[in-house]
Amino acid sequence: MPVVLDARVSPRLSIVAPCYNEEAGLEEFYRRMTVAAQATAGSDYEFVLLNDGSSDRTWAIMTDLVRRDPHVVAVNLARRHGHQLAITAGLYTCRGERILMIDADLQDPPELLADMWRLMDSAEADVVYGVRRQREGETMLKRGTAALFYRLMQRIGHADLPADAGDFRLMTRRVLDILNSMPEQHRFIRGMVSWIGLRQLPIQYDRAARTTGASNYPLARMIGLVG
Ligand code: UDP
Ligand code: MG
Repeated sequence: MPVVLDARVSPRLSIVAPCYNEEAGLEEFYRRMTVAAQATAGSDYEFVLLNDGSSDRTWAIMTDLVRRDPHVVAVNLARRHGHQLAITAGLYTCRGERILMIDADLQDPPELLADMWRLMDSAEADVVYGVRRQREGETMLKRGTAALFYRLMQRIGHADLPADAGDFRLMTRRVLDILNSMPEQHRFIRGMVSWIGLRQLPIQYDRAARTTGASNYPLARMIGLVG
């Protein structure tokens, strides 16, 4: 059973990771993310995993992690609601003073947390967002549609939306409180965070190829994100 939410106090760090059919890589992600979290926040962190209607053993692995590790909170969505809504569920569930949003497939390196944390401290930033230096192992089509997607989003109103940034970011509780109070039904998290303002700084990183599984953002879903 997942932990009782009301029993938790505010940890220094919450990690929020949406998972759809990540059975092959989830343990490794958990292991690397835990090392990075402990190096940054000691034992004062929580690890919020969202199961987005997976059809594989993702949920079984999550419940096992909850049993083994009191830092882990697992949320089982009623069906597959998609990446953005899975993150949203995590953002309402988490309690941390700082919140890291990260993909579970190890394309976003957990080890970057230390640099993000340091930059947030030294520059007094409210958001530190990852910007991809390169897209290793991704097809031309994926790279092409991603590039088109960002240019299009900038054209249709998200003027400040940084290109080549996903949802991989560290943010403060004050940003999250604003984000969670926004009424949008069709949520596009990175656009909404960028719209909020305050001090938002990029940090460059190399985006790794997926180690296991396959991208769940084929062309049709990228278009769905725009529409
Ligand atoms: N994901 C999800 N629901 C979905 C599709 C993806 O929760 O319907 C998760 C997935 O497990 C991963 C993250 O969202 O942690 C990013 O998904 P993916 O790797 O498929 O996207 P890409 O890296 O290709 O943009
Ligand atoms: Mg991915």
